[in-house]
Amino acid sequence: MRFSRAALRHLTSVLSVTVAAIMLGAPTAHAKAVNVYSARQEALIKPMLDRFTEETGIEVNLITGDGDALLTRLRSEGRNSPADVLLTVDAGRLYRAKEAGVLQPIQSDYLVENIPANLRNSEGYWYGLSVRARVIAYAKDRINPEELSTYEALTDEQWRGRICVRSSGNIYNQSLVASMISTQGEAATEAWAEGLVANFARPPQGGDRDQIKALATGQCDLALVNSYYYGAMLQSDDEEERAAAGAVAVFFPNQDGRGTHINVSGAGVTQSASNIAEATALIEFLAGPEAQSWYAEANNEYPASKGIEPSPLLESWGDFKADSVDVTELGRLNAQAVMAMDRANWK
Ligand code: FE
Repeated sequence: MRFSRAALRHLTSVLSVTVAAIMLGAPTAHAKAVNVYSARQEALIKPMLDRFTEETGIEVNLITGDGDALLTRLRSEGRNSPADVLLTVDAGRLYRAKEAGVLQPIQSDYLVENIPANLRNSEGYWYGLSVRARVIAYAKDRINPEELSTYEALTDEQWRGRICVRSSGNIYNQSLVASMISTQGEAATEAWAEGLVANFARPPQGGDRDQIKALATGQCDLALVNSYYYGAMLQSDDEEERAAAGAVAVFFPNQDGRGTHINVSGAGVTQSASNIAEATALIEFLAGPEAQSWYAEANNEYPASKGIEPSPLLESWGDFKADSVDVTELGRLNAQAVMAMDRANWK
C-alpha cells in the first residue's frame, strides 16, 4: 500500500491529536475499577489484587488500615463512601460491619458452592477467604505434646505460672472465648477464663509473635497463638525470630471433641458500592484456587475454599479437625466474651 504525501501528513496529524487526547486523559472507554478498604496489610493482599487486574483488566485501588478504623470510616462516609469492598482479618469485624449497615448482600453461586456454610454469612453479606487456627504453641525442650489435649485443660494446676497469652483486648482471644461461650455457655467459659488467668506466667503483653519469643526465652512453657505467626517466624529473615520459632512447636487442641478454634479473614461488598459486579468478581477471584493457594504460601493460612491443598509447611504440621461452629457466632457473642474476660480479670 502506498500513501500520497498529503495522506501521510493527514495521518500523522490525526495520530498526534489522538496521542495528545490520551495524554490529557480525554474520555476514552471507561476503565473498570474496584475500590478496596483492607485491614489486611498491603504485603498480604496486594500481590493477589495485581493478579486480579492482570486477569480481568479491572484496576484495584487499595486503602489499608486498622479494621475498626476502616469500619468507622465507612460509617462516617455513608452513601458517599468510594469503597466497594471491605476486607477484614477476623469474623468479628465482618459481623460488626454487617450490623453497622455498611455491607450489602451479593449473590454468587461460585462463593456459595466453594466457601463452606459456617465460614460465610448465610445471606451473602460477607464471605470467609482464609482460615486461621488458634493453637497451643509449646517449648519443645520442656513439654511433651502428650501432656496437651484441650483449651479447657489449660486451667489444670500443672500449668500454674506457665502460660503466656496476649491481652483480652485482642480480637483473636475474644473470638476464641466467644467460640467457647457458643459451645459451653457463659458461666463455664468465665470459670475457664479465671482458671487460665490463674495459670498466666506474666501479665498479658505483646502480640502473638512475642508469646512465641517468650517460650524460647523460658518465660513460659505454653502459649495461645495463631499458627501463621509461627509459620512466619520459621521463615523470617530475622535470625532471632527463626531461632525462637525453632525452639517451639504447635499443637492443635480439642481434636477428640469440637476441634481447634478457627477464625477467618474475609470480605463483603459495601452498601455504598457503585462497582458491584467488579467487587463480586474480586471476591470470587480471592476465593479461587490461585489466591487460596497463595494465602497458604504467603501467610501460612489455611484455604477457606473447598478442595484446595494447604502449603507443604502447613502440611508438615499435620491435618487437624477445625471447630465447625458458624463463625458468625464469634461476632454475635463478642460483647459477652469481652465481659467474661473482664470479669475473669484477663487484662
Ligand atoms: Fe494476625
